[in-house]
This record gives sequence, C-alpha cells and structure tokens, in this order.
Amino acid sequence: MFDRAPVPSALASPTAARAIRRREGSRRLVDVGRLLSQVLTVRCAGCDAPGAPICRSCRFALLATPPRRPGVLVAVPFTGRARQVVLGFKFHNRRAVAGHLAGLVRRRLEQVGVRPGIDVDVVTWAPTGDARRRERGFDQAELIARHLARQLGLPCRRLLVREESSGPQSGRSRAERLRAPGFRARLDRPGRAVLLVDDVATTGATLGSASAALRSVGARDVLSVAVAGTPVRTRRRPNGHRRPLRQAA
Ligand SMILES: [Zn+2]
Repeated sequence: MFDRAPVPSALASPTAARAIRRREGSRRLVDVGRLLSQVLTVRCAGCDAPGAPICRSCRFALLATPPRRPGVLVAVPFTGRARQVVLGFKFHNRRAVAGHLAGLVRRRLEQVGVRPGIDVDVVTWAPTGDARRRERGFDQAELIARHLARQLGLPCRRLLVREESSGPQSGRSRAERLRAPGFRARLDRPGRAVLLVDDVATTGATLGSASAALRSVGARDVLSVAVAGTPVRTRRRPNGHRRPLRQAA
C-alpha cells in the first residue's frame, strides 16, 4: 500500500511546484475577497437589513418592557423582534451586537439600583457546553459577560465549569438532571458578590444551578442576569384570574 502513496507534487519538478504556488496564491486571494465582503456587508442581527449590526427599528424593539422573573433580572423579553436579535446573535454569529446587548443589561442594573463595586464585585457567566461552543465558535454568555464587565468597570472571571453529562449527578432527581446542567464553581477570592450572566433565561434552571454552585463555594451574594427572558408562566385559577406561578422578584 505504501508504494501507492502519492509523491508530494511540489517535489515532482520545479515547474509543477511553481504552478501549485500560483494556484494556491490565487485561491488565497479569493478567500480574502470573500472574507472582506463578509466583513464589509454588516447586517442587522434582528432583521438581516444591511448597514449596521443592529438597525434602528430592532434597537427600538429592544426597548420593550422586560418580563419580571423570579430570581433573575432580565433586560428584554424573549419574544418578537427582541427574540430575533438574540437568536441572530446566538446562532448566526452576529457577535458585533454583543456590546449593545450588554449595554441593555447594564441599563437594567442601573434601573433597579445595583451599584457596581458595592453590590457586585466580579462578573462571571454560565458557560455553554463544549460541543455547542465548538459548533458556534464562541460562548455567547461569556461574550456578553466580558462586554458587561468592561462597561461596569468590574473584573470578569471564569468561575464556573459545566459538568458534562457523565459527571457526578448523585443527589439529583432525573427530572432535575434533565432540566438543569450541573456546574462546579471556584472563587478567585472568598466572599465575592457575583454578577452571573447568561444570554437567555427560559426555565431559569441553568442560572439556578450555576448560582447554587457559586453559593456552595462561599459567594457572599449572587445576582443572576440575562439579556432576554421568557415571560413567567401563569396558571389559571378556578375563578378565571391569572397569576404568576411564583411571586415575581
Ligand atoms: Zn433590524
């Protein structure tokens, strides 16, 4: 089988080697051209309109009243156009919008009177699973956390590791294992007041699990925030009124 292995063509003759170099050179030029046009054609993460990472109309949609969620502070509702922007960021690699989304979280923190450096002194994120991060090329929660930390003037530290499904799961019911990923936490300093960031809060299970891990290693306080959140589910009472399942925070 070894004698069938092709002789590297660059070694065949100097002329062939030059031809290969020329061909590869022009292929590289095509790649650069394609990359440049991708970079220059900036499109809106929400509606794909060309011109800006987020267009005026989508920017406006992100000003919608955020849902009140128990245990997590949310900047925008995970519905309609706002949802499209977050999905564009998350699944279509629209990283340019991360700073804007982080800014919405910062504004929400200001609204509720959170004082950076006093109420929270370090920023971290609930890490995405390895497979998903490889697939997307980045961890969207980390990107938001890094932008947010810079805007708040706080350090951003990796304090959590996601336990892949093979990890120890004892003491948790099957339903819990399905619902919430496990996290291991390590504080860079004891007694930290942690601002814990995620991109989307749906069931709240991920943030709940990550927050519990941080508290278990001695975090003084954990404030969970998400860019977007689904409205809290309501249950119809016998008299026909709706009320939240749990009291909104
Ligand atoms: Zn748009």
